Amino acid sequence: MLKTPFATKDKLEEIALSVPTPFHIYDEAGLRRNIRDIYKAFSWNKGFREYFAVKACPNPVILQILKEEGCGCDCSSLTELMMAEAIGCDGDLTMFSSNDTPPEEYVYASKMNAIVNLDDITMIESFAGAVGSFPKTMCCRFNPGGIFKVANGIMDAPGDAKYGMTASQLYDAFRILKANGVEEFGIHSFLVSNAVTNDYYPMLAKLLFELAVDVQKETGCHIKFINLSGGIGIPYKPGQEKNDIFAIGEGVRKVYEQILVPAGMGDVALYTEMGRYVTGPYGALITRAIHEKHIHKEYIGVDACAVNLMRPAMYGAYHHITVMGKENAPLTNMYDVTGSLCENNDKFAIDRMLPKINMGDLLYIHDTGAHGFAMGYNYNGKLRSAEILLHEDGSWDLIRRAETPKDYFATFSNLPIYEKLLGKE
Ligand SMILES: *Cc1c(COP(=O)(O)O)cnc(C)c1O
Repeated sequence: MLKTPFATKDKLEEIALSVPTPFHIYDEAGLRRNIRDIYKAFSWNKGFREYFAVKACPNPVILQILKEEGCGCDCSSLTELMMAEAIGCDGDLTMFSSNDTPPEEYVYASKMNAIVNLDDITMIESFAGAVGSFPKTMCCRFNPGGIFKVANGIMDAPGDAKYGMTASQLYDAFRILKANGVEEFGIHSFLVSNAVTNDYYPMLAKLLFELAVDVQKETGCHIKFINLSGGIGIPYKPGQEKNDIFAIGEGVRKVYEQILVPAGMGDVALYTEMGRYVTGPYGALITRAIHEKHIHKEYIGVDACAVNLMRPAMYGAYHHITVMGKENAPLTNMYDVTGSLCENNDKFAIDRMLPKINMGDLLYIHDTGAHGFAMGYNYNGKLRSAEILLHEDGSWDLIRRAETPKDYFATFSNLPIYEKLLGKE
């Protein structure tokens, strides 16, 4: 319930001596424990595999750790495929769950022998046009439309989502693929993001299992796997109850035994593509208070900004903040914690009660391990930060250096200006 940093103030100050703030830091031990629990929770399913959603934390060192723990990669772009391949996730260790896919990415995925998840029925032709033939195994993404509800209310509106195909398109797609030599099939669906409830996967599983039984019966296509995709959430706010991955695994097992086993489909493997749940809580953005400003409100200016963590600016997302060294100090001051972008939404916190902040204090912004660094951009000519991996024994590695002006200017095609800029660096 309380949110506690995984690194001490001393450790962060030690790192900051050689890697200036801001930087993202990841907790290797926490990450490994978490992924092991996921595998334990689904150990009842023979073929279970987590394909980590690379977009959540696209650093090859993190991907490598996850691979060591048994994970594959879920990719949706060329560079993600290239990273997956580089760490040895070729063949069925990569799931290519893309949409609006450029044909050359299908070519790349096919060369890797990745499992391709078709987002739309029209992609059958695109794929055939690009690749020439179909692999033995293929997956299709399903969108049930309408509104998706769990016990405690409406979760999302798949009817408004651009992804996937309708049920009747999915049946047609399977028939066409089968006629073209595909032998093994997968069904994928992603209906809800950041679901902080143990009901989401079991509800989704029920929907997909019922569909799978009917599809296999109607089309004669052998369903090899069902991919529950991502969407399992994390408690960003203190006091929010955390998902129980064992309850989730057990909930899915119950519907599996209710629906698939009696249909003679007890051989179906379950796949997941979690991103947020896997790395989210095991990353933090470390930034320093560098200015305070007292006008109509109280502002603390830090050396990170929305380009380092976009979620608060983009979605109004809450990220908890701990002022290092003041963990137990009373929350006496109400602040807006801001970055330096010329954008008034560049705020990590609005009207947040925090201990009194002094210039130079380190702020620990929680839960940035997924969709944090990854969503970074370069607005205002701001540069992307470094990434640090903290090991269990307290040692650490720089796993990505911070960008320099040279990186930012490197794509200019006007050579004289580029050379002039570099000369000044
Ligand atoms: C983004 C995404 C994921 C991961 O989502 P999380 O919310 O991080 O779990 C998985 N699969 C696909 C296809 C995605 O687009």
